[in-house]
Amino acid sequence: MPELPEVETIRRQLAPRLTGRTLERVRVLDERWCMPLRPAEMERALRGRRVESLGRRGKYLVWSLSGDRHLLQHLRMTGNLLYDPAVPPVHTRVEIGLDDGHRLLYADARRFGTGQLAEGRDGLAAFLEARLGLEPFDPGFGAAHLHALARGSRAPVKAFLLDQKRVAGVGNIYADEALFRARVHPLRPAGGVTRAQWEALAPAIVETLEAGIAANGASIDDFRDLDGAYGSFQEEFLIHLHEGDPCSRCGAPVRKIVAAGRGTSVCERCQPRPRVRRRT
Ligand SMILES: [Zn+2]
Repeated sequence: MPELPEVETIRRQLAPRLTGRTLERVRVLDERWCMPLRPAEMERALRGRRVESLGRRGKYLVWSLSGDRHLLQHLRMTGNLLYDPAVPPVHTRVEIGLDDGHRLLYADARRFGTGQLAEGRDGLAAFLEARLGLEPFDPGFGAAHLHALARGSRAPVKAFLLDQKRVAGVGNIYADEALFRARVHPLRPAGGVTRAQWEALAPAIVETLEAGIAANGASIDDFRDLDGAYGSFQEEFLIHLHEGDPCSRCGAPVRKIVAAGRGTSVCERCQPRPRVRRRT
């Protein structure tokens, strides 16, 4: 699933090719993509609009269009954007023809990806505020913010990090990598993470995401960039998908556990398990 670095990779490639262009032709081939709008309504809403900018918040691509209209696009599990592909992908859901003759296709095998509209600055702000917490690259993001946000939470810290309303953009890969770097066990209750641990974890989240962006994302599922190329961050994973390998830091075997309902890689020597108080 594309996480923040994968979506940012797409955005950086796409922004210079889209900014200033007009969406001349728009065809929505899958009604699920834009529900509750009908495909014809979405096509009408987008057609003839100029792209003012292409931004990102969390895992959303934010297309800001002329007339203060915004398209919020989420790629979910298997969404891919392709620019002038030689062969149109099988699972093409949306086709956009630009006024410079280029073509952008959105393909999505599992069809969980979405396109939604927000009207005006306020509409956009309300849409994002209802769904997303602070961006890790926001100046307000840090140990103090996270420590306060997690107070009283008994959710495992990994679940806390994956909750988009708490921290925007972090998914399974980057949560595992950041927890390992900060030596925090994924099952530690978020409310029990100490200030010192947040002091390690907050920068670890930012560094992991930055490393992911620098590597053009990670391609372990279907992620490909705009030109169909794969990212390389999977080659830099310190812990994620390293089950059975010796820990890169201490040599103990990396274990696979379930945390937040997801397969999770952990070194329980570097990331000591929280002590559990059992009821008798
Ligand atoms: Zn270790």
